Amino acid sequence: MCHQFAEVFQEAIPMKIDITSILSEAGLHLEQKGSATFSFSDVHLTKPLEFDLRFTNIGNAVLLDGTVESEVSLNCGSCLSDFAYPLHLELNEEFLSTYDAKRGAEEDMTPEELSIFTYGDDRLLSPDEAIRQSILLNLPMQPFCSPSCKGLCPACGANRNEGECGCTVEKEEPVEDRWAPLKALKAPTGTSKRRRNPRA
Ligand SMILES: [Zn+2]
Ligand SMILES: [Zn+2]
Repeated sequence: MCHQFAEVFQEAIPMKIDITSILSEAGLHLEQKGSATFSFSDVHLTKPLEFDLRFTNIGNAVLLDGTVESEVSLNCGSCLSDFAYPLHLELNEEFLSTYDAKRGAEEDMTPEELSIFTYGDDRLLSPDEAIRQSILLNLPMQPFCSPSCKGLCPACGANRNEGECGCTVEKEEPVEDRWAPLKALKAPTGTSKRRRNPRA
């Protein structure tokens, strides 16, 4: 027997999935597909989030897996403009029942402290936090609007991607040279001194 639901969500978060129908037996699953407008405090989505999720009773937990797609607004580290960054994420997280956890275990730590996802006695599972964490983990450390971003003019601050500002700026130092002062700091003092003052 297989429970399948494919409802279309258009509500805002929190998304609450009633998993009562799959809890009676391991192997049962339900599916949720659609799009929803999410607003997280630390992630700015510029599009509704498209999701295709499956919730499976795997015996000791409910496995959430599936895909999530959206777009997030990031700030380019080079030209400082905001740009849209597409998200295509695969989720794979287990949710434990807080009811069972309370009964069976002598846990000193709460599920939150253990970074475990849970659902409660109401049998409503919310994937929001798992989605949020997955988005954060998949954002680039150094966002760039494009691999060929020209950055800002060091003289007038104009965004060089938007055209020539007309400034005459000396040719930029090659990327390696920018790190030269740092390398000199890291190098053993003796070595860098010898290099700077070679003996005749
Ligand atoms: Zn840029
Ligand atoms: Zn300029």
